[in-house]
Amino acid sequence: MPTSPPPTSPDGTTPPAGALRTAVAALNARHHHVALLLFAAIVVAHWAEHLAQAFQIYALGWPKPAAGGVLGLVWPWLVTSEWMHYGYAVVMLGGLVALRHAFTGPSRTWWNAALWIQAWHHVEHLLLLVQASTGAYLLGASAPTSIAQLIIPRVELHLFYNTVVTVPMVVAMVLHRRNRPADAAQPTCRCATRPRVVLVGG
Ligand SMILES: [Zn+2]
Repeated sequence: MPTSPPPTSPDGTTPPAGALRTAVAALNARHHHVALLLFAAIVVAHWAEHLAQAFQIYALGWPKPAAGGVLGLVWPWLVTSEWMHYGYAVVMLGGLVALRHAFTGPSRTWWNAALWIQAWHHVEHLLLLVQASTGAYLLGASAPTSIAQLIIPRVELHLFYNTVVTVPMVVAMVLHRRNRPADAAQPTCRCATRPRVVLVGG
């Protein structure tokens, strides 16, 4: 008995099934603009913590274990818990996957770049989480160690990872908002046609 293939969206990808599919469809349609703003706010807050930590290390000369950013000074487990770091990596990856459908044309290429880099960043955090949970560290290291961390120290490495994920993400958002007529496919959302704030009088 032949079965009909699952429905595909105009870009050829197969959307997720059931309630999740409905939620993702709404996030890529009328809620895309708000969802992108919330996602960007989470990314900015995370960046603020990383930059505060970098300032404490490089400008104030604090030893790395004492440099907990802002929230980490009050709740040190936010910095020391591999579950926390892994959780953030999953939220980032989930957001990049869930909000991807509405991106079309060149903006989709940039968004995909951020998605694949974050997928690798997530694998690195999974490795750290497994090591922290089992107590067996990579290549006999004295603390949980990710693959790229064998070459670059942890604080600097994750500043790098966050940069190479954020830059293509921001480029994608800017292109998505412009959505030039040259873009082949039309997005499912109305981000590009939303009224902008216009300064009048002056
Ligand atoms: Zn949109």
